[in-house]
Amino acid sequence: MSKKETDGYSPMMQHYKNLKEEYQDAILFYRLGDFYEMFFEDAILVSKLLDITLTGRACGKEEKAPMCGVPHHSAESYIAKLLRLGYKVAICEQLTEAEKGPVERDVVRVITPGTITSENILEEGKNNYILCVHRQNSKLGIAYSDISTGEFITAEYDDQIYNHLNDIITELQPAEIICSSAAKDMIENLPINKIFNLPKPYIYLEKSFVFENALYSIKNQFGETAPVVFEINSNPLSIIASGALLDYLIDTQKIALKQIRKIKKHNVDKYMVIDSIARRNLELTETIRTRKKSGTLLSVLDKTRTAGGARLLRRWLEQPLKDAKLINLRLDAVEELYKNLMLRENVALLLKNVKDIERLTSKIGMKSIKPRECNALAQSLQIMPQVKNAIINVKSDLLKQIYASIANLSDVAKLLGSVIMENPSGKLKEGGYIAKGFNEELDRLRNLQTNATTELFKLQQAERESTGIENLKISYNKVYGYYIEVPKELALKVPLHYHRKQTVGKADRYFTEALKNLENEIVAAEETSKKMEQEIFAALREELIKFIEPLQKTSKAVSGLDALISLASVASKNNYVRPIIKQNGETISITEGRHPVVETAGGGKEFIANNTYINSSTDKVLIITGPNMAGKSTYMRQVAILTLMAHIGSFVPAKAAEFSVTDRIFTRVGASDDLSSGQSTFMVEMMEMANILQNATEKSLVILDEIGRGTSTFDGLSIAWAIVEYFSKHKSKVLFATHYHELTELEGLLDGTKNYQISVKEVNNSVVFLHKIVRGGANKSFGIEVAGLAGIPEDIIRRAKEISHNIAQEDFNVKLASTNLPQQTQNASASYNVQNTKVISLLKEIDVNKISPLEALEILNELIKKVKD
Ligand code: ATP
Repeated sequence: MSKKETDGYSPMMQHYKNLKEEYQDAILFYRLGDFYEMFFEDAILVSKLLDITLTGRACGKEEKAPMCGVPHHSAESYIAKLLRLGYKVAICEQLTEAEKGPVERDVVRVITPGTITSENILEEGKNNYILCVHRQNSKLGIAYSDISTGEFITAEYDDQIYNHLNDIITELQPAEIICSSAAKDMIENLPINKIFNLPKPYIYLEKSFVFENALYSIKNQFGETAPVVFEINSNPLSIIASGALLDYLIDTQKIALKQIRKIKKHNVDKYMVIDSIARRNLELTETIRTRKKSGTLLSVLDKTRTAGGARLLRRWLEQPLKDAKLINLRLDAVEELYKNLMLRENVALLLKNVKDIERLTSKIGMKSIKPRECNALAQSLQIMPQVKNAIINVKSDLLKQIYASIANLSDVAKLLGSVIMENPSGKLKEGGYIAKGFNEELDRLRNLQTNATTELFKLQQAERESTGIENLKISYNKVYGYYIEVPKELALKVPLHYHRKQTVGKADRYFTEALKNLENEIVAAEETSKKMEQEIFAALREELIKFIEPLQKTSKAVSGLDALISLASVASKNNYVRPIIKQNGETISITEGRHPVVETAGGGKEFIANNTYINSSTDKVLIITGPNMAGKSTYMRQVAILTLMAHIGSFVPAKAAEFSVTDRIFTRVGASDDLSSGQSTFMVEMMEMANILQNATEKSLVILDEIGRGTSTFDGLSIAWAIVEYFSKHKSKVLFATHYHELTELEGLLDGTKNYQISVKEVNNSVVFLHKIVRGGANKSFGIEVAGLAGIPEDIIRRAKEISHNIAQEDFNVKLASTNLPQQTQNASASYNVQNTKVISLLKEIDVNKISPLEALEILNELIKKVKD
């Protein structure tokens, strides 16, 4: 290479720079001996991100190249941190040994947030998805995959593409999003961006989004007939998104992904839609405040014993079914397990020892399974016949299907047991994992290493006997290797086939062919045995690929069994009941329903059960009033959660329950400022409401917890009133909690509107919460009493009661002038009026049509400041 070509860098650094050019979007981990090093901008960035020392390395130029590094054996934790921060990491390994000339290096894998397979980085009970999005005008194609499990799914939409994409992203919460340039803006403008911190979409190669190329990639992965077999031949956008995703996966993993064996179509009609807002409000898989699993519906329902079971149950919760037949299939299975405690316990006990077969199988698909993981797989497979035997007499269809799907893989378990030793070492190159007895030659080589001293001793004995030299001895030194040492005075006795190596003091040192051979064998044995172990293991990995299909089928069945047992056990422990599901019914009827999370988290406090009756005609809008803290929110969420539980095939916490199939659950619960997107509390509230009004159907359940609270009382009340009117003319089932007691006037005036209140008892000027829902409307909120309970100082409470009393007596505006205001307030009113004029003139200057919500907020801020000044 000429000086110009290398740009003045040392050959190694030039190689680094060339590689970095290829992997610009990743942080390049460049292997040098026992370290992964980073240079230049990567080094500066990573040293800051991971708080590691920045040093420098000579690079052929006058100035050193900035460098930082991490030890290769602990690299995983550093990589995990970078992935969590949204970076990709390209791993460049040494492909040849340093002793055999210049070291060759190349990138062997790019680890990205959506393509993680390491169990140390992945969350066990949660899928890790990568999503690929392509858009062509008003059409949308998506494909998503979890390569750690082999799942690969696609969909194509030609209407409501924003909604579909928003729903899918909400459901999947992908760790990584790739897209064509045409789809980027769309992704960034989805409403979900305001709720979750979505990964920044990465625009992938345009050529991968060309139809012919995508089709080629699909056929290459799945075979010529794949588009027809997977029924996507008339979905060009599905083909493009799937092909591009496959390209990206292979591009980053640099290996065939044998665990991805089929493309499934995402069937929107099969699942209930729960948008991001409802998911969040109902706290299905994470709480609003902590964003943790604890305190969620999932935490109550998930008593699974396997990682696959936990993932599946979470998926069920994320995708409730809309088909009564499918729901009943699950319910039948749950009921059978519910009634059979012995069966449940027996299987659960067995499943406790089953490892993550699904993810281990994916490692087989990527030829990255390790010896220890082979043992884990073998152990798990050995349990399968017992699991199968335990469910041999099941009656329900789903359990029978599960029984049939558990394959007999004892041959695989035996194979693994015969190849891999009991406590194998973790390092492939070092050897120490192939079982004794599997390969004779390997055993011999290993014996040679362990018995080297015995062999040498034997040879020494033989030489002493054949030469008659009693004090002949075989020794070793680093420079000359093994030698036979004979005292000089006995030199005459040395046979002709001895070759002199060296003379020292009073002795001569020799070697013979036999000694040389033995030496070569000893030295080579270690190296050869290590190589042999690697070869045997590579052959085993290859052999295991044949079993991917039955392994995946088995793991899926076991996950299903685990998830069903979990639902049955929770149902039995918490006293749930099997719900009745009606495909074409119009009623939700719950007798003595309880909130599954609040009742378990009550800290010993009794949970008060409540009834619910709502339908699409006579009782479709339930207006729920009652004091603060009475339990309105809890009650409404409970109805939504029980509906959802029934649709995943779970029993529900109630005495009896019936649900007509529900297509969507909407919630509008509270609101928080969304200043980052320039939207106020009220704006967010109204946007959410607009979405509900546009999308709720006659099969939808709508939960509205306070509407119109973020604006003036009259505007808010008017909006709430109009919304109730709207729903009274439609068929959605609506639960509407409100402190606008005026709305209770609507029962009798509007079709299908019914009043309910959560009752309280007034004792000695204070309230006792009964948490019981009864017919009728409340006319008091007890807000001041609750404020007192919350610790607002007594004089303020007293004064509030006074004002409240006065307001109740007369019109507020008139009364304000003559109310017996405290002196301090009267003094303040003069200066208030001066400020008032300033504020009014400022307000007059505003043209509402010309300002953004954010500007409006800033003005509001200024106004408040003026008033406070
Ligand atoms: P607000 O109008 O102030 O928002 P709310 O009427 O919506 O109040 P919730 O937040 O639902 O009231 O409930 C208040 C508290 O009462 C909850 O923390 C819950 O623990 C308890 N609670 C609610 N319902 C019940 C019930 N059925 N049995 C026992 N405790 C309940």
